Amino acid sequence: MITIDSHIHTDLSSDCSIPMEVMADAAVSHNLTDICITDHMDYEFPSKEYPFVFDMSRYMKNITPLQTKHKLDLNIRTGVELGLKPSVEPQIKALLNDYSFDFVIGSIHLVNNTDPYQPAYWASFSSEKDAVLAFFEQTLSCLESLHSYFDSLAHLDYAIRYTPSGITAYSFHDYCDIIDAILKKCIETEKSLEVNTSAYYRLTNNTPHPNEEVLKRYYELGGEYLTIGSDAHRPEHLGAHFRQCGDLLKKIGFRSYTVYQKRKPVMYDL
Ligand SMILES: [Zn+2]
Ligand SMILES: [Zn+2]
Repeated sequence: MITIDSHIHTDLSSDCSIPMEVMADAAVSHNLTDICITDHMDYEFPSKEYPFVFDMSRYMKNITPLQTKHKLDLNIRTGVELGLKPSVEPQIKALLNDYSFDFVIGSIHLVNNTDPYQPAYWASFSSEKDAVLAFFEQTLSCLESLHSYFDSLAHLDYAIRYTPSGITAYSFHDYCDIIDAILKKCIETEKSLEVNTSAYYRLTNNTPHPNEEVLKRYYELGGEYLTIGSDAHRPEHLGAHFRQCGDLLKKIGFRSYTVYQKRKPVMYDL
């Protein structure tokens, strides 16, 4: 059973208004045994309203007393969700030099410096398929150049959330070459693939990010490391759909999931 949530936001993230202590209390009431708080650090994010950067010293100051308070009922690990793009490598390097984390998530939220969340992203391509393909290409390129900075590649098919048609189901075969290249690179560089359960509550096609076909392919290729995260921005989403996600992973053939402690993978039974 999955009782550890490795992808959680708090009010240090530009798109979340829930204080860290409220998320921690809610994690206990959701019967989680362990969480990692991974707020957004997207250096040079192209929005003044949502800068997606925060003061890491404040994070560390907030989390230490919370770890003490929950010593007996919840293990609270330190983490960060890094927005990846090649131009921010110096800032990423400095952050990881200045602070030590249990877990670092690598996320692609921008292609050509535009978030697929924005309609302008889709308008710049002649088809949805080309726009999704460009997202995967950007993912591979960031994985190749920045893999040494993070532990798990988050929400591999993030762009699919925001298709203008609203169609969020896609076939692995439409993108098999690029997805294969991404999965093989993850395996070769010993990165985890994140299973992000937010797709269960954000989308309507009953799947995590990435979808079942991609997870099956990762398994076929010999992928072993999977981190699990709800990507909760609200207390009610903590540990969301973990049972369903565990059943899916076991059906595919996986037997364990991965949790990072001081940047080292530890395996837990599903
Ligand atoms: Zn993200
Ligand atoms: Zn997130």
